[in-house]
Amino acid sequence: MPVLCIRHDASLHHDTGFWHPERPERIRAIESALSTAAFQNLLRVEAPLATREHLLLVHPERYIRWLESNRPADQLIAVDGDTMMSPGTWEAALRAVGAAVLAVDEVMKGPSRRVFCAMRPPGHHAEPERAMGFCLFNQAAIAAFHARQTHGVERVAVVDFDVHHGNGTQAAFWNEKTFVYASTHQMPLFPGTGDPSERGAHDNILNVALPPGAGGKEFRAIFESAIIPCLENLRPDLLIVSAGFDAHRADPLGNLNLVEDDFAYATRLLMEQADKWSEGRLVSILEGGYDLDALGKSVAAHVKMLMEG
Ligand SMILES: [Zn+2]
Repeated sequence: MPVLCIRHDASLHHDTGFWHPERPERIRAIESALSTAAFQNLLRVEAPLATREHLLLVHPERYIRWLESNRPADQLIAVDGDTMMSPGTWEAALRAVGAAVLAVDEVMKGPSRRVFCAMRPPGHHAEPERAMGFCLFNQAAIAAFHARQTHGVERVAVVDFDVHHGNGTQAAFWNEKTFVYASTHQMPLFPGTGDPSERGAHDNILNVALPPGAGGKEFRAIFESAIIPCLENLRPDLLIVSAGFDAHRADPLGNLNLVEDDFAYATRLLMEQADKWSEGRLVSILEGGYDLDALGKSVAAHVKMLMEG
């Protein structure tokens, strides 16, 4: 069963400025880590451009038009406190969404059942009408709605192990009875949402917060005691992973202490759930991860696990 990695050079042309942690070198670090012999069977696919219809699955026309009208010709602009646009951003953002949509199409038709989208900018902070936290469009949410609209998929789970809470995905899923958003994240931390009391209109949101300083032991425990039972309860037809690697102990933006093995462990549990409920269909979408060495090693551990079994 081939595992796909969707990528595109456009991810390298989204310039955020020399000081910014969400930078093109992240993709170079990932591609370098995935260039060893262990990944020679990983199939690389180029990300297509998303269509307007894909964006509209989550984002209203007025937001898309506003963002598009901000496209700079020759400079950097901020569309939010820390969310930048450069001349290359629009294409990068459209291809990041296009990758997530293609990933859904691929796992639905097979033979590939597991896909990793190695794209930037990330997406889980993007709310339907608001760019924030380095994110413009919400790839994970768009992937879920695309699965419903195009493939008739009823139950979708997005599991998000980025160190930050995915406020955008939560907002997009809030009223969706058959879509579950389950997140592990550090609290307190940006963006400030993700309290366990935030549960969605249909009890379809699960937020499990970890205190600063928590490590693999605590992370594995909440995965086993909360995230997995949530998936057992939903029995998702498709599993989407918001794969952020900034809960790594070396990451400069978070204060959790995970190591590569912890990401591999979570990946294995998620694969077991996908095998159990969704014929193995698992779409993994890169979110955060800002220490280049830790990011490369963590993605390698994640993808290596996806290639097993
Ligand atoms: Zn993050």
